[in-house]
Amino acid sequence: MRIHGIQTGSVAVRSRQRRGAGPGPLRLAATLADRQWTEPLPILAWVIEHPEGLIVVDTGETSRASQRGYFPAWHPYFRLGVREWVEPEEEIGPRMRRLGLSPADARWVVLTHLHTDHAGGLGHFPGSEILVSRRELELASGLAGSLRGYLPQRWPAWFAPTPVDFSGRPFGPFEYTVPLTEAGDVMLVATPGHTPGHMSVLVRLEGRLVMLAGDSSYTQALMLEGAADGVTGDEALARETLRSIRAIAEQQPTVYLPSHDPESLGRLARMEPAMAVHPTRAEEPALV
Ligand SMILES: [Zn+2]
Repeated sequence: MRIHGIQTGSVAVRSRQRRGAGPGPLRLAATLADRQWTEPLPILAWVIEHPEGLIVVDTGETSRASQRGYFPAWHPYFRLGVREWVEPEEEIGPRMRRLGLSPADARWVVLTHLHTDHAGGLGHFPGSEILVSRRELELASGLAGSLRGYLPQRWPAWFAPTPVDFSGRPFGPFEYTVPLTEAGDVMLVATPGHTPGHMSVLVRLEGRLVMLAGDSSYTQALMLEGAADGVTGDEALARETLRSIRAIAEQQPTVYLPSHDPESLGRLARMEPAMAVHPTRAEEPALV
């Protein structure tokens, strides 16, 4: 098994999106009112070469996002909260081909959530089974989804994902997991917070747990600190998820890879765990 990290362009958001401020409904307002932008952050996606087939986790962004009118100008988040830079050759399809992989061979495409910079590359995978949590799909669909900042009007016409219900067994501090591979070495785990239907992917590789964490947090440091972002509608839930991630990282060597952390690709290359694991706590729950 092998995991590739793929950068599909860059995104900048308001600094308060990365580390949120303010209570409840004022959080998003505080984010949009922030004058400060982050530096351009990578938009990452992942490809797992697995004996059971090619697994793509998130699809990154489309270069069409750089065109005028692609984002709805009426929506305050797209008007005030985000800037993206994606060249056609940076899309996930061409990036995969450069690695000698064909998007047509993707058996599964797992979307951590449906925000545009994770679902924008869907058009490269018309023949794959696409997995999204049922809750995320419900919240992102239709006019209500558009109001929440999703772009359902940009999904490919053929988009009919398999909804994932999180009723599976717990894993360590996580309440719900769903195995993806028959071998049980790749699992989906509910990580609500950034969005209510957000999920992450856990991979058992080389004696480590690799967590493809989507937007659970924007950086590893913010996860360790337990700091929720500035777009979550439920700060307490986001912090609880971050506590669970930290707990698993304390129990076993965990390589934590969020989608917009400039350090994620380096940590993957070094298989570098988020924390040193205390030897007395070595009896970690098995993934399988
Ligand atoms: Zn997101």
